[in-house]
Amino acid sequence: MPTMRFDALNESSNRSTIAIGEIEKRSTLFAKNVFNRDKMLQFLSRDAFEKVEAAIFSGKKIDRKIADQVAEGIKAWALSLGATHYTHWFQPLTGSTAEKHDAFFDLLDDGRPMERFDGQQLVQQEPDASSFPSGGIRNTFEARGYTAWDPTSPAFVYKTTLCIPTIFVAYTGEALDNKAPLLRALHAVDEAATAVAQYFDKNVRKVNATLGWEQEYFLVDKALAQSRPDILMTGRTLVGRSPAKGQQLDDHYFGVIHSRVLAFMNELEQQCMVLGIPVKTRHNEVAPNQFEVAPVFEEANLAVDHNLLLMDVMDEIADKHGFKVLFHEKPFAGINGSGKHNNWSLATDTGTNLLSPGKTPMKNLQFLTFFVNTIKAVDTYEELVRSSIASASNDHRLGGQEAPPAIISVFIGQQLGDVLDELEGVSKGKLSPQEKTELKLNVVGKIPEILLDNTDRNRTSPFAFTGNKFEIRGVGAKMSCSKPMTVLNTIVAKQLVDFKKEVDVLIDKKNLKKDEAVFNVLREYIKNSKRIRFDGDGYSFEWQEEARRRKLSNNKNTPEALQVLTSKESIDLFKATEVMSEVELSAHQEVELDNYVFNIQIEGRILGELVYNYILPAALTYQNVLLQNIRGMKEVYGAAHKNFTEPQHNILEQIAEHTSEMKKLTDAMLDAKNRADNMATVAKKAKAYCDTIRPYFDEIRTHADELEKLISDEHWPLTKYRELLFIK
Ligand code: ADP
Ligand code: MG
Repeated sequence: MPTMRFDALNESSNRSTIAIGEIEKRSTLFAKNVFNRDKMLQFLSRDAFEKVEAAIFSGKKIDRKIADQVAEGIKAWALSLGATHYTHWFQPLTGSTAEKHDAFFDLLDDGRPMERFDGQQLVQQEPDASSFPSGGIRNTFEARGYTAWDPTSPAFVYKTTLCIPTIFVAYTGEALDNKAPLLRALHAVDEAATAVAQYFDKNVRKVNATLGWEQEYFLVDKALAQSRPDILMTGRTLVGRSPAKGQQLDDHYFGVIHSRVLAFMNELEQQCMVLGIPVKTRHNEVAPNQFEVAPVFEEANLAVDHNLLLMDVMDEIADKHGFKVLFHEKPFAGINGSGKHNNWSLATDTGTNLLSPGKTPMKNLQFLTFFVNTIKAVDTYEELVRSSIASASNDHRLGGQEAPPAIISVFIGQQLGDVLDELEGVSKGKLSPQEKTELKLNVVGKIPEILLDNTDRNRTSPFAFTGNKFEIRGVGAKMSCSKPMTVLNTIVAKQLVDFKKEVDVLIDKKNLKKDEAVFNVLREYIKNSKRIRFDGDGYSFEWQEEARRRKLSNNKNTPEALQVLTSKESIDLFKATEVMSEVELSAHQEVELDNYVFNIQIEGRILGELVYNYILPAALTYQNVLLQNIRGMKEVYGAAHKNFTEPQHNILEQIAEHTSEMKKLTDAMLDAKNRADNMATVAKKAKAYCDTIRPYFDEIRTHADELEKLISDEHWPLTKYRELLFIK
């Protein structure tokens, strides 16, 4: 009997809810371990405080003397919380976070010990990070990498370590991480949006991109997860028969939260509060054992950091509660997968949400300006938006009839669609006083503050306007938000720069009034970006056809989706906005293709192991049981045994058929894998893995799942879906 599964089942059924201490009020816990403004005021000199504030506001450099003072303050604060170590916390291209801890400890010349942390250690470090992916950047330039302090994301103490958010770049300046490009994109959109916002309000000095993510995840009992090599190594189940009861009853969605899960959530939220992650919402999701957590939105860079930190904290707290968190986009076949919606907007330092309709026509013209420019940006760069959410695991969802399709389109709803249609009719050039009044009163003035049809009723749209923000719905649950945020803010920055140029030309050369010029340019944008607008059913076959006619891309897999990163348009875009150089783009593309190959490679190998070391042996063992039974029947009944052993024979034959097919397919898959591994470039490998290896997975699985049906429960070695998916 396979012991792993049954031991795990035993262990999981004996688990009870872990009591957590008394829950403190959230507002008193909030940001206790974050070196935020309050702590700065307390631990820094006025001068140092102002310099850091200036650096946060405008990206100004902090000189060494001030850095020393800041380091001194941070050290004193961190030690007061019991920290013993510090680390530069960074985001290499692996997609997760990295840290290397150093103790606050040094020896003086005379050998006496001291607690040490100075400006140099705060500002810059050189982790021996040669094993992180660099897409050839380091080889090309023989450059080492270093981490550099990002003062816009405050340092925090996690357990006994002071974590300092940093970027990770080569000595030659190329980004080796996802944060450096994000910061550049945020800077670009700040400059571009501020200039445009000043058309409407001269007082605006800064525009922050905002991000509110919604994180979906599954919880599985830790022992059960550990009993499955596929979950452990790939984050998903490569085989497994659908349970009789899945999500068809819809009884999990928003249902009562299981006490073990609730204890986990409570502790998680407490920890989030301490770390300044403003989580607010929690609920059961559609699939059994699926949940969601969402915060109050924040400035985008901080929100990205907080999401990455959250995922780390979740792993840790789940472990304590006897769970494993699955962030994979599609951990189980046949039931919903997980995504990470990215709600995005632009906010001025004067407190205005630029994507929120207002009370006055002027406010609404401002809203329309940013609204239409965003749509235009997505229209021009739809393929780049698609590329920013591409990954091996997310390929399972995009186009899978449950998450948005791989075709990027924008949902704006009927009301706003009507407004844009009317604006299309605005006269060219100067507007008559009547037309202006008409526009102000009846078109722009009619946009209500609350857009009733812009809740997210249309779940099939990948990029939806939801009343006062856009929502990118195709982001993978597992991935960092940094890539989609980098792309979105970059394309909007570029679009706003172009817009401003066009408007200024009309004002300066054609003598148009500002609002006339704005209307004129918006009219053209509305006309030219119509194809990206789609409010219908994104899952339908008709939409695929229609999208083809509209010449929208439909890149169904990651290798295809990533190609656009190095197109001329992309290179020009990222160069013009100073977000990424051509070298960085090809390096990042290469790393992502590598990641894709590694992911499928690992899945292929694990699937091979499952077939050879788990499923085939179980099938053979069970066949032996049946054969023994037939032999026994024959011994007792002689020739008459045939009257009684029909079922045994039938099952034996079915098992034989499936094992034989499954083995053939597995061997063919492993052969294809060996061929792909010998290919010269990563692009070729990725294509081969996508086209010639991945398709085997489902075919192999079909036979494995049939075998699961046929083989007796006590001989089946892999923990079953019904056991994984329902918490005891
Ligand atoms: P739902 O999408 O479930 O209906 P909401 O629309 O209220 O819920 O918000 C979903 C997410 O959108 C939350 O994480 C919230 O913080 C975020 N959000 C709300 N307003 C903004 C904004 N202006 N910018 C960015 N994110 C926002
Ligand atoms: Mg939402």
